[in-house]
Amino acid sequence: MKIPKQIVIGVTTYEIKECDKIPGPGNDSALAFIEYDKGIIWISRGNQNEQIRQLSFLHEIVHGMLAEISEEKLRKDERFVDLLARQLYVLLEKNDL
Ligand SMILES: [Zn+2]
Repeated sequence: MKIPKQIVIGVTTYEIKECDKIPGPGNDSALAFIEYDKGIIWISRGNQNEQIRQLSFLHEIVHGMLAEISEEKLRKDERFVDLLARQLYVLLEKNDL
């Protein structure tokens, strides 16, 4: 999977931007972050391998999808978001999508 420069989730377009430090409070150790209101998915440039970058990207996409369908409780459930992101990652990898 290649991380694009831009992605459409539902009716919202997000720019994918790389940065040295993820913006926002409490994000000091975060690898990625989605800013719903600004339409940006931030990905840390940091010292991470491609698999972790892709997983972090998919994690933020799942947050974005849940925001799109107004599933606020699930959107804030980091464990659920992470498990679903991992399932998506495996689906994409195992099926060469
Ligand atoms: Zn998250």
